[in-house]
Amino acid sequence: MVSQSPDTKISLKSPIRAPSAVPVDDAVLPFEVDALDLRGRLTRLGPALDDILTKHDYPPQVGKLLGEAIVLTTLLGSTLKFDGRFILQTQTDGPVSFLIVDFQAPDRLRAYARFDKKRLRDGQDSGTLLGKGHLAMTIDQGADMSRYQGLVALDGGSLEDAAHEYFLRSEQIPTRVRLAVGEEWRGGDGPKHRWRAGGMLMQFLPKAPERARQADLHPGDAPEGAVMHQVAEDDAWVEGQSLIGTVEDVELIDPDLSGERLLYRLFHERGVRVFKPLPLHAQCSCSREAVSAMLNSFAPQDRAEMVKDGKVVVTCEFCSSVYEFSPDEAGVE
Ligand SMILES: [Zn+2]
Repeated sequence: MVSQSPDTKISLKSPIRAPSAVPVDDAVLPFEVDALDLRGRLTRLGPALDDILTKHDYPPQVGKLLGEAIVLTTLLGSTLKFDGRFILQTQTDGPVSFLIVDFQAPDRLRAYARFDKKRLRDGQDSGTLLGKGHLAMTIDQGADMSRYQGLVALDGGSLEDAAHEYFLRSEQIPTRVRLAVGEEWRGGDGPKHRWRAGGMLMQFLPKAPERARQADLHPGDAPEGAVMHQVAEDDAWVEGQSLIGTVEDVELIDPDLSGERLLYRLFHERGVRVFKPLPLHAQCSCSREAVSAMLNSFAPQDRAEMVKDGKVVVTCEFCSSVYEFSPDEAGVE
């Protein structure tokens, strides 16, 4: 299996422009810091995230975790080819046992989380909510392309940790990821509560590959007495990491700070180039036809067992759309 990085090349043909002062929500902004050999993407999510999370009325900590998974998915999946698909899933033993985010290029997002309400407590962080298990990322580039799946163990850490682990072990590209999700409370007319999220992915892609050597994330895994391998990281990557390290959650989700302003704030001394933003939409791909086809794939007995009060009702787990069929339509004899 050929490992294809989800990070494909950014087109350099976009014109250079001044940073926009107007914040754009629901978009991924690709950027490049040439002087440091850094490439990256910045995601800002507002209405699309709110749409996905509000449909399910998730408890706050579950909404926050699913929001982080959604942001991570947009950072990883947004460079896919036109009909590509990027699916991020976790399967773990924590209170949130299953998360799925499905990104269909160029711009469609859907997601949901399964959780055990009885095991939820106030103040549980992402790592505790997930527990132990694994995170899987599947890239599907269309019918005649091979599927790629990357797996990362989850062991009580956050999704940011898992992303770092993935890039260190599988891609071997020096990468830093930041994810932030917050709730916004407003007065006045209109909705009082809204979800917002933001995130950044930054990669060090020097022309000379030997400059991309990385320090191991977990020297603690080595047996006692082992001589640790000291790796001096490249100065440009050290500088890049220290800059992204200064980004605060509030900056990533601030509705009044444009992504371009944030990038300028971080990298203005080195010069940052920003490319055309890629819009994102919350849109499910379910349909009555697809649900009907799924019903048809079930064994006749299973279909018969789905009849309740003289009808078969199927609810889409992603978007909560309800599809009703008569027993006849559902193929029940
Ligand atoms: Zn749906």
